[in-house]
Amino acid sequence: PTILAIESSCDDTSAAIIRGGKILANVVASQAVHEQYGGVVPELASRAHQQNIIPVVAQAFHTANIAKSELNAVAFTRGPGLLGALLVGTSFAKAFAMGLNVPLIEVNHMQAHILAHFIDEPKPAFPFLCLTVSGGHTQLVVVRDHLDMEIIGQTTDDAVGEAFDKSAKLLGLPYPGGPALDKLAATGDPNKFPFPIVNLPGNDFSFSGIKTAILYFLKDQTKQNPDFITQNLADLCASIQNALIKTLFKKLIPAAEALHIKDIAIAGGVSANSGLRKALQEEGEKRGWNVFIPAFQYCTDNAGMIAMAAHFKYLKGEFSDQYASPEPRLKF
Ligand code: ATP
Ligand code: FE
Repeated sequence: PTILAIESSCDDTSAAIIRGGKILANVVASQAVHEQYGGVVPELASRAHQQNIIPVVAQAFHTANIAKSELNAVAFTRGPGLLGALLVGTSFAKAFAMGLNVPLIEVNHMQAHILAHFIDEPKPAFPFLCLTVSGGHTQLVVVRDHLDMEIIGQTTDDAVGEAFDKSAKLLGLPYPGGPALDKLAATGDPNKFPFPIVNLPGNDFSFSGIKTAILYFLKDQTKQNPDFITQNLADLCASIQNALIKTLFKKLIPAAEALHIKDIAIAGGVSANSGLRKALQEEGEKRGWNVFIPAFQYCTDNAGMIAMAAHFKYLKGEFSDQYASPEPRLKF
């Protein structure tokens, strides 16, 4: 099948075209408007999606070099995400599908982050364990089949991406902080400042305590030395990143061992983090895991992953109708 997929759950407007499971185009328009506010402003995100969606879709058709008449279905992100942002993609997809008289496919954004692993080789074998780490979620997921997944652990408060972004903000780094912190961490000492590594019972995560610990540590230090942050910036970044990665591994390793699963994947925006990618490689070598790390373009939000999920739903005949509506807290 040939499918157009739309992603508009947060602050990236994206369109992709997939044919026979191969991505022909994956166009992403990011929204710079949020930088001045230090975070995503939902109303501004909706308006930017409205402006970007037509040119992004047009570019996807241009890159894929196909005509609208060749589409067999139109897919969209139904949730989770910001309601106003989701509405733009959902409404566009419904109108487009109705105009072409082709079926609609709704996709769960968090499942799609995981299914990004089926875009390129090598592909994980079922069942595999996926640590999904993004701006709004931190989930340990057992993946039994393309559309059969179970969340066995998740964050009880902040997402790890949020912890990256908020820590970066405390250090005075520009939004979005995660990538900036990653870059600076590369030249710092990860063991210079021992930030707490929270370990809840069971498979669940907590990241709000680390953030608070960093806040009070920085307050304390800058009281004695106003230049503390600038003088220790790389070491602070490396130490924060180290604590966040260790917190993730505290749950990932026991879960993999308890389930006897050796195919281990990471997904979501934070899987672009170079420290996490390296730590997973090293841990994998030590434990005899087959590790799966997405290409950078499929880590953060993109419609390519929505298209991949839609491909599997098309093959199973899972379609939606014109009554489909966004669900900001969509579960699976
Ligand atoms: P969700 O997928 O939970 O709905 P989202 O779609 O907003 O949330 P993603 O686009 O998947 O999130 O990921 C964005 C997050 O990834 C942000 O928190 C960002 O800081 C983080 N991120 C991106 N690159 C890096 C990096 N190199 N290091 C650390 N964090 C990163
Ligand atoms: Fe996402």
